[in-house]
Amino acid sequence: MARDETQIGVVGGGLIGLSWAGLFSAFGYETTVYDPYLIKKDLPFQGVEDVWRSLDLLFDNLTNKKEVKFSNSIEALKASTFIQENCPENLSLKQEIIKELEGIISDKTIIASSTSSFLPTDLQRTCARPERVIVGHPMNPPHLIPLVEIVLGKVSNQELANRAKSFYSSLQRVPIQIRKEMRGHLANRLTSALYREAVYLVSEGIADVEDVDSVISNGPGLRLALLGPHMNYHLGGGDGGYRNYLEHLGPSQEVRWETLGQASLTPEVKEKLILGIEKQGFNMSDLKNKRDHGLIEILKAKKANKL
Ligand code: NAD
Repeated sequence: MARDETQIGVVGGGLIGLSWAGLFSAFGYETTVYDPYLIKKDLPFQGVEDVWRSLDLLFDNLTNKKEVKFSNSIEALKASTFIQENCPENLSLKQEIIKELEGIISDKTIIASSTSSFLPTDLQRTCARPERVIVGHPMNPPHLIPLVEIVLGKVSNQELANRAKSFYSSLQRVPIQIRKEMRGHLANRLTSALYREAVYLVSEGIADVEDVDSVISNGPGLRLALLGPHMNYHLGGGDGGYRNYLEHLGPSQEVRWETLGQASLTPEVKEKLILGIEKQGFNMSDLKNKRDHGLIEILKAKKANKL
């Protein structure tokens, strides 16, 4: 366990908050979730148990799980040493909650936001102690995808970032600190670049939703789970490596970049995308289970191959 963290607070018990809470508690941290809209009390417990079930397939020494506490009062987070904020993606709501938290927590408590695209400086703007507000951005589902992007704002403290890194590392995560804050951090900028072209290709009628998805999941997606784009192209250069790749095939990349599309999510395009998914008739919970089991197998393969 990370030396400085004893009590973990989770703001928001939705998709991301529950996944984090399941992860924190599975690794033995006392965890409390605050969400004013937790009406169906059984649902969150169910969510945490689902997370634990997946984690038990991945790690075989999670013997110190702690029951997660749920509350609809923010006061329940008072003793937290580290807070992961996961309320809806609304800047003024996040700022308001952080302000409320600052009124009850210790000066040493870190507040890490899961925000997908706000800058930490935006979150810090209304704070009494801005340096302790950072971004700790996961990818869905945080208990299975190891990446956590750590981003500091204009007012920053590297020691606090190191503490956050040490906490996420204690959960078997892979924390990466981004050097400069930027909208969407790194992962969402990269996925948005791919998604923009995926939408453009469907909107132009080059391929349908199912074929675009199949091209990725049966093609580049497979190797991207093991190696990033730069390293994949290093292999694409044969014995000459990345240098050869860039000399040989760099010009064809530049030609393609010039033809990449500008997508727009108009009502017509959105309808085309949604129908393209719905006509495939997948059951949501069945699909989620298959994805989670597949992710567990990929994570095991990465570990076995040291990738
Ligand atoms: P969600 O809608 O599933 O959950 C949000 C939760 O916040 C809900 O349970 C809601 O009841 C609760 N909430 C609403 N108002 C609140 C308040 N005033 N105080 C405390 N809790 C409140 O949303 P989500 O998908 O879990 O996203 C949460 C955050 O995580 C967002 O900032 C989002 O950008 C980020 N994120 C989402 C994803 C994703 O794929 N969904 C991935 C990475 C990061």
